[in-house]
Amino acid sequence: MTNTSVLRFAPSPNGALHLGHALSALVTYEMSQKLGGRFLLRIEDIDLERCRPELESQMLDDLAWLGITWEEPVRRQSEHFETYTRSLVKLEEMDLLYPCFASRKDIAAHAVAGQTDPDGAPLYPGLHKGLTTAEANTRKNAGEPFALRLDMDRAINTASSMFPGPLTFRELNPNSGDVQTISAEPERWGDAMIARKDVPTSYHLAVVTDDALQGITHVTRGQDLFAASGIHRLLQVLLGLPEPLYHHHDLLRDETGRKLSKSHKDKSLASLRAAGASRADIRRMAGL
Ligand code: GLU
Repeated sequence: MTNTSVLRFAPSPNGALHLGHALSALVTYEMSQKLGGRFLLRIEDIDLERCRPELESQMLDDLAWLGITWEEPVRRQSEHFETYTRSLVKLEEMDLLYPCFASRKDIAAHAVAGQTDPDGAPLYPGLHKGLTTAEANTRKNAGEPFALRLDMDRAINTASSMFPGPLTFRELNPNSGDVQTISAEPERWGDAMIARKDVPTSYHLAVVTDDALQGITHVTRGQDLFAASGIHRLLQVLLGLPEPLYHHHDLLRDETGRKLSKSHKDKSLASLRAAGASRADIRRMAGL
């Protein structure tokens, strides 16, 4: 039996694709070709307010212009909330989630100075962890919106009873073929949000659910998501999902060393194309 490699590029249509995305898409696409594997495109649009169809169309157009081809149909996360609900129910049945009614402001006000998660956001200070079921139900019945958070200590304990040995993920160096074992350290995320207030999922839950469902063998993405792979491994163990190989590529930075982001409008592929940049120019600017 041959094991076909399956790779994906998973942009969020909440802004224009920029040079950093071009790098990520091309690294992934070219790795899939080198491995003789499949290449999938997944639209990560769970943020219904910020993600817009016209941004998605522009993204598809930019990717096709870069010479990338993908399998149809494209998976759009906003069409699969019931699938993520199934993962959520599983974690709920394991008694690993609790409701949190706090606003971003409440969290910032109670966070301990200097304690941040790997994304640099204030570490969730455990607000509402101690609410009794009756208290939580009263607030739910009153229609107060709530997120669901992972009880991280309990989740790590449960995972270690299901999966003996240290929790790790495997990082591939595509040039040498070496695979490094990385300590997952999901506790760095604290009691992470697993379902947002507005939709029954979060980035972390949707990604691990979809990667498993789509049979992704190699998760390739930027270094900014390196630490996220630690909590993704924890969720994979808890949900009984397979472990992919990871490759986190270097990030493109601006002149001041900051990671390129959606605010760098001048680096968007659409504006570079409009200014006459060729595919070869984009590759060069993306450092390929
Ligand atoms: N949707 C994420 C982003 O735009 C990438 C997710 C991933 O590759 O796991 O940054």
